[in-house]
Amino acid sequence: MEIQVNCAECDTPVAKVAAWASLCGEFFCSEEHWSMHMQNCSAPECDPDNDEMTVNLIASGYDWTCPGCSTKNHEIEVVAEVCCSKCKAEFLVGDTIHAYP
Ligand SMILES: [Zn+2]
Ligand SMILES: [Zn+2]
Ligand SMILES: [Zn+2]
Repeated sequence: MEIQVNCAECDTPVAKVAAWASLCGEFFCSEEHWSMHMQNCSAPECDPDNDEMTVNLIASGYDWTCPGCSTKNHEIEVVAEVCCSKCKAEFLVGDTIHAYP
């Protein structure tokens, strides 16, 4: 059975697969009604100027201290082997300890 949704603008029933969906979760019968909604909607999801919805979270990385020269090194991801930025010594990585689990 076909799932039907009602256009949030004019209340016309429309097949969900053919409906225009807004980012805030409403459905529309046509591009015209959809774009009307996108212009008027106050939901942050539908606001193209709202950058807050599209930030990427980047993990701050992993610090380790070189046993050879005591230099503090920083890796952006978990790797199997690390190389000291100062003395170029290579070390295998043991356990990864998360400071904030
Ligand atoms: Zn409509
Ligand atoms: Zn909306
Ligand atoms: Zn070193």
